[in-house]
Amino acid sequence: MSSLSAPPRPAMCPRQASSSSFAEAFDDARRKLDELGVREPGKEEEEEETPSPALSSSSSATDESAPSLVDTESPISPPTPIGAPTTPAAVDPDVVDNFAFAFDIDGVLIRGGQPIPEAIEAMKVLNGENEWGIKVPYIFLTNGGGKSEAERCRDLSQQLQIEVSPGQFICGHTPMRELADRYHTVLVVGGEGEKCREVAESYGFRDVITPGDILKANAATAPFRKLTPDEHANSRDLLARGNGSGRLSDVVIEAVFVFADSRDWASDLQIILDVAQSRGGRLETRSATFDEGPPIYFSHNDVVWSTAHQHARLGMGALRRAVETVFEATTGGRGVLRTHAFGKPQVSTFEFAARLLREWRATRHRQQRHGLPPTTTPTAAAAADAAADVPPATVYFVGDTPESDVRGANAMDAVAPNEWYSILVQTGVYQAGTEPRDKPRAVVGTVLDAVRHGLRREMEKLALARKPVADGHMPAPVEVRCDPLVEV
Ligand SMILES: [Mg+2]
Repeated sequence: MSSLSAPPRPAMCPRQASSSSFAEAFDDARRKLDELGVREPGKEEEEEETPSPALSSSSSATDESAPSLVDTESPISPPTPIGAPTTPAAVDPDVVDNFAFAFDIDGVLIRGGQPIPEAIEAMKVLNGENEWGIKVPYIFLTNGGGKSEAERCRDLSQQLQIEVSPGQFICGHTPMRELADRYHTVLVVGGEGEKCREVAESYGFRDVITPGDILKANAATAPFRKLTPDEHANSRDLLARGNGSGRLSDVVIEAVFVFADSRDWASDLQIILDVAQSRGGRLETRSATFDEGPPIYFSHNDVVWSTAHQHARLGMGALRRAVETVFEATTGGRGVLRTHAFGKPQVSTFEFAARLLREWRATRHRQQRHGLPPTTTPTAAAAADAAADVPPATVYFVGDTPESDVRGANAMDAVAPNEWYSILVQTGVYQAGTEPRDKPRAVVGTVLDAVRHGLRREMEKLALARKPVADGHMPAPVEVRCDPLVEV
């Protein structure tokens, strides 16, 4: 068993002890959510929207023109059309209100495209197959991507033998849709075939260019990369754009988005660096000062991830570092490169998840308590359910990567009005016997152990809270302590 020491924090969130401060925080969050929430149909044109998702950013120099992505005023991310939660088919009176689970996917539930065996059982336990007969809300928060949320949910539903709705699901590039109105012409990198272009266009991006389009226009861009016949046919003809001038330099990239892992690092790295060193994003130009390139957004920052291989494989965070390192090497350290990363461990991504979880739970409340029709908008449902809809006191976040899952959940726990309890599993990136820099609240073997740990902890809290004292009165609020680490 690991000799990790957990963060010095009581098992019961002390914030729960102050109902007034919690209520104030909740009311403030509700007000901001209502201000920023999902629009009523037909209201979009009437409302002003200023997307400014907080990101992990790095820049080799201060750039006043860079989007204000870090210093957002609100602790809650701006609105995102997450997609209307799919309402459960049946009323579930046994769904618990006071806690919930959130899961990373790769290395926790899925590995190498196959479900981790205990994951299927864990989902059954959450869906009522437990000794208490309760059902527990849950969502999925993955840094992965490369497909639409709906397609990924279909895959996950099949793998886990449950129905997963887009209303329960966030992937690495989901928050990128908030920038669709900010940039017109963008370069989208990563993924298989045309899928990421299709996802970007579904997010509302209006002019999406891929590396294949650039290679089709000028094969010398990456001398060792040859487009397959299908890639050549699917890539768009940049030379036929606009006035048909036949010049790539007429194309101006306003931002680069790495949606999913690159399938060809060499050519993608070359093309990203070309754009980063261009004059204002204009293709096939070169800046004299290397400080005019557009921003580069990565959907996450994980250096490694868990696959079917026995050792973790390189991920998008490694490509980001490669871009930054080679940019510095090829500019002699003189230029300015602006890179930003979404995904875990950014707190904004967890706030996004909290909003998703709230909408998901509000939909359930609406069905159970108000009998509102499934066509009611999430905003209307949330308003109708204002009295009953409160955040779960505890969200158990289960992940396999300390640097993203644990760090993010702990950071969210430090700022959220409720408790975010990090659980690290040993079926993915983290390996037993190593010492992660970011300490989880608990370490367990598998996701099934994580679910059981959370359920036991909640039942222990409930039992202590309900235990009568000798004079028949209920006791004062009890601070429950659980072992920070679980023996495996
Ligand atoms: Mg993972």
